[in-house]
Amino acid sequence: MEYSPEQGWHNGRIQPYAPLQLDPAAAVFHYAQEMFEGLKAYKSKDGRVLLFRPDMNARRTTNTNERMCIPHIDEELFVEAIKAVVGVDREWIPSKKGTSLYVRPFIIADEPFLGVRPADHFLFMIILSPVGPYYEGGLAPTKIYVENEFVRATPGGTGAAKIGGNYAASLKSQEKAHESGYEQVLWLDGVERKYVEEIGTSNAFFKIGDEVVTAPLTGTILPGITRDSVINLLKQWGMKVSERRMTIDEVFEAGKSGKLVEMFATGTAAVISPVGELSWKGEKVTINNGEIGELSQKLYDELYGLQIGEVEDKLGWTVEV
Ligand code: PMP
Repeated sequence: MEYSPEQGWHNGRIQPYAPLQLDPAAAVFHYAQEMFEGLKAYKSKDGRVLLFRPDMNARRTTNTNERMCIPHIDEELFVEAIKAVVGVDREWIPSKKGTSLYVRPFIIADEPFLGVRPADHFLFMIILSPVGPYYEGGLAPTKIYVENEFVRATPGGTGAAKIGGNYAASLKSQEKAHESGYEQVLWLDGVERKYVEEIGTSNAFFKIGDEVVTAPLTGTILPGITRDSVINLLKQWGMKVSERRMTIDEVFEAGKSGKLVEMFATGTAAVISPVGELSWKGEKVTINNGEIGELSQKLYDELYGLQIGEVEDKLGWTVEV
């Protein structure tokens, strides 16, 4: 689909996957005016094709577009477009346990010019890719280190938007993490560098005693759809959930005294990713003996079960294609 000021969003079409031809002066190449989303289509055992809360991806797109001076896309149209593309050939959608069809909607500014200003012409595209199971042998705890050198987001910046620029700025930390034997980094806030914010490209949860804590949506973290679903489920299960700022000191104290009973990351890719070890300034804490926590497993089973249509969807979170 294309956007121009005269015609708005128009020319929606489905065409075979192929390279794009863009003007070398297209704004996206120089000023990174673009956004993207990510969700998965799962095939249930009885052959249904399910999307998980695509309305939330549409809402997040609205917010991202607003921040990035990208024209609004009607949220129903956004979901209908995904359904149309995913529905082209249901045979593409893998059905083996753990597999899915990853759906990547994205928008780029393709207007050619060299001054700095919001573009007037955009392309909205949706591409698909089959993906295998995130964990080959079931959930596996990860090792994380606290990033002290670089930050992901600062107040007033673009941390709550889903845009390539945020990821480009995080690549250096990811490289550092991998070189030092860690799977991911724990991001701290960009001002005082003491409040925990996110884990890699996921939201972070900490179970301290019987309280489950996650960072509040103050504009510097991405409002994850899995995060929202986890908070909803925990509340339904009668658990104490706090969206509050928490310092890395508090996390480490809780870790050393054994009160940090579980820690996990949430996101579309892995759903729930338990953390087994956390490292900060040369100190390490092991969480739940480096094993998968009971709550992490329960949340994974419930959410993944819902996504593949094996847990009854009482909240109407799944949308059939
Ligand atoms: N934070 C960041 C920075 C992310 O890239 C993602 C992945 N989209 C998330 C959190 C988790 O969001 P979601 O649950 O919607 O996948």
